[in-house]
Amino acid sequence: MSDEMHFQAVVVGAGPGGYVAAIRLAQLGVKTAIIERKNLGGVCLNIGCIPSKALIEASKRYAFLGDDAAQMGIQTSGATVDFPAMQTWKQSVVHKLTQGVGALLKGNGVTILEGDARLEGPGRLQVKLNDGTPALVTADHIVLATGSRPIEIPGFPFDSDHVLSSTGALALQKIPKRMVVIGGGYIGLEMGGVYARLGSKVTVVEMASQILPGMPRDLVQPVSRTLIKRGAEVITDARAQGFSRSRAVSKVTIELKDGSTREITADAILVTVGRRPNTERLGLESVGISTDERGFIPVDAQCRTTTPGLYAIGDIVGDPMLAHKASKEGEVVAEVIAGLPSAMDVTAIPAVVFSEPEIATVGLSEEAAKSAGYTPVTGKFPFAANGRALTTGKSEGFTRVIRDADTDLVLGVEIVGPGASDLIAEAALALEMTATAEDIGLTVHAHPTLAEVVMEASHASRGHAVHAMPK
Ligand code: FAD
Repeated sequence: MSDEMHFQAVVVGAGPGGYVAAIRLAQLGVKTAIIERKNLGGVCLNIGCIPSKALIEASKRYAFLGDDAAQMGIQTSGATVDFPAMQTWKQSVVHKLTQGVGALLKGNGVTILEGDARLEGPGRLQVKLNDGTPALVTADHIVLATGSRPIEIPGFPFDSDHVLSSTGALALQKIPKRMVVIGGGYIGLEMGGVYARLGSKVTVVEMASQILPGMPRDLVQPVSRTLIKRGAEVITDARAQGFSRSRAVSKVTIELKDGSTREITADAILVTVGRRPNTERLGLESVGISTDERGFIPVDAQCRTTTPGLYAIGDIVGDPMLAHKASKEGEVVAEVIAGLPSAMDVTAIPAVVFSEPEIATVGLSEEAAKSAGYTPVTGKFPFAANGRALTTGKSEGFTRVIRDADTDLVLGVEIVGPGASDLIAEAALALEMTATAEDIGLTVHAHPTLAEVVMEASHASRGHAVHAMPK
């Protein structure tokens, strides 16, 4: 391979931001290369969204055998978990998808370079290829999409088998008897939920006054209740101080709100306190870019940095740090580079917690709507009044539609309950199309489906849900 290469566009990082940008660039006729130092698919496909959802699904099915199956007349005595086999299956899902990304990139004519890239002035990247050779890659446009990594906290340095990041928790080969999860955000709850369903005694330690800080409390309550039903303990207003270890067992010390301390025994400690952008070793100083105080790269709605020809997308540009946000920015940046009018808008970006039950939101909460100057009116509809939910044996939770009293525009939708992750798509479309609550209510939803709750909650926000008792 030549040690100097030129492309119209080069994307650094092949996560859901980078690989989507590269494919879209190629579709638009731009000669493109993508540089990835590890695995195509990035965090999301390899050590994030996909493997976590595989384990979540498998553990939920196992838990179903223990609770709802008997109620439905299905007798399942003696069901056991072969955890290494579950992990092998999870890995096979990851493999299929990452292979698919490789095939799509090649099929679209994108050049894939395996190596670590660093900026060396505008339009120039010094690449240490994985075979050890250095290469200089130049480009008219460079898109940075280098993602993020888990944050370590003092006193809990990650290792491979005991103090785990999400990556370590996804790779365990044995189900720990006792697991302490430090940080009750979505990743901690998703992974903690997996191990609780598989039989671990899970303790979640959260510094804020509730798990999933920032979310409306009534959305979070069904998740707390289910965790407790699964034998987990949720401790809020508590700070993990450190741990001592004897052989494979640790005692984690936590400080409670009243200043007292408590020790919790654990065979594994999972630390999920947030993620940090990978921006330190990118050579940003060589192009005159400074990150903000959290390490994010400031960009405009076209994903442009302040350096001409240099763009940034995905987790490195900040919240929401989600795969579909990264992918949308990937599309936007490709279109901007190709000269098309395109811009990023996070108004209709949904967020999902794959907890039990799932939580999904899009748009503004009632509080946020008030702060933004709207006069919000809400309508709530419970899954317990939805026929389809009852037939699945899962009917906990509700859907809330938040609309503007003056214009009837849908401002936000919040769902906690079965199928929330899929149901939120309709709400995202409503926000994207600036639909009114009446629009959703007028849309005929097939019966019996979970989606009827979105229609009913829209009616409820206008005062006339058919399947709810009048107030
Ligand atoms: P990444 O996916 O982080 O990819 C960046 C890539 O850049 C990596 O492959 C990295 O190796 C490469 N790279 C970095 N530096 C260099 C360099 N100098 N040279 C070459 N290559 C480089 N999001 C959701 O939307 N839904 C979910 O359900 C979800 N679940 C998650 C579960 C877990 C356990 C975790 C950890 C994350 C989850 N996320 C989820 C978040 C999601 O994974 C990220 O938001 C998403 O991967 C960000 O995409 P990205 O393209 O910005 O970067």
